[in-house]
Amino acid sequence: MHWHCHFIQKLEDEPELEFRAMHRELEGLKAGPGESERLQRWQEGQTGWPLVDACMRALQHTGWINFRMRAMLMAVASYQLWLHWRDPALHLARQFTDFEPGIHYPQVQMQSGLTGINALRIYNPVLQSQKLDPDGEFIRRWLPELQGVPVDLIHTPWLMTPAQKNRYGGNTYTLPVCDHEQAARAARKAIGDFRKQHVSHTETERVLQRHGSRKGPVQKRPSVPRKAEGDSDQLSLFD
Ligand SMILES: Cc1cc2nc3c(=O)[nH]c(=O)nc-3n(C[C@H](O)[C@H](O)[C@H](O)COP(=O)(O)OP(=O)(O)OC[C@H]3O[C@@H](n4cnc5c(N)ncnc54)[C@H](O)[C@@H]3O)c2cc1C
Repeated sequence: MHWHCHFIQKLEDEPELEFRAMHRELEGLKAGPGESERLQRWQEGQTGWPLVDACMRALQHTGWINFRMRAMLMAVASYQLWLHWRDPALHLARQFTDFEPGIHYPQVQMQSGLTGINALRIYNPVLQSQKLDPDGEFIRRWLPELQGVPVDLIHTPWLMTPAQKNRYGGNTYTLPVCDHEQAARAARKAIGDFRKQHVSHTETERVLQRHGSRKGPVQKRPSVPRKAEGDSDQLSLFD
């Protein structure tokens, strides 16, 4: 209940968060929203990264997915796929049976690196998959294409040889949209460069004063993102 109210208060304080980046100077980071093949593949659970696709298809089917997987879906859309945050945010909102704009938009902005006061959390979809679904049970449940694929290949089906594909199936599952590691590196660099050029201390301070955690003394935060915490379990819900 505390988290619920904490996040809803952010949107109460600044209703524009539904439409623009929390850190205004990060608004120009990407071209505006718009249809693209990448967006469509993400929405349909056809990115080629099994855990991402399984989560999206589970969400479509049930209307619910847990916190960490919401965060991963949003982060993959924002970083590896380099989509503008608005389209993925609207898509997720339409799927959630518990859609609550007050929680949703601040979370979307946090997971897309648009607050300017949080470290970037770029998830590695393969490491997440190996860690959270080690036997591939969840993946096989939601991706029938990969039913017969053994555990050592289920997280990276694109590495299967033609002979393995003939043996285990998986021919109908899509290849990844891009190399996720390269894409993550490129995203981190693009954001770092943009922040160095366009982000001022004044605006960062405004966001911090308005939305920063009040758990302890307010500390000056770096104007450039710190090391990515893509695979960290330590998801701070408050900052
Ligand atoms: C990108 C993204 C979008 C999200 N969009 C929504 C949304 O539209 N609606 C929504 O209710 N939650 C949203 N969340 C927060 C969170 O994922 C869900 O509230 C949580 O999955 C609900 O799980 P639960 O019912 O088991 O709640 P529990 O974890 O048992 O918590 C009980 C209640 O506390 C509140 N709560 C839990 N986690 C959070 C959180 N991280 N932030 C704020 N309140 C929380 C919810 O009201 C929840 O029903 C979003 C998270 C992310 C990363």
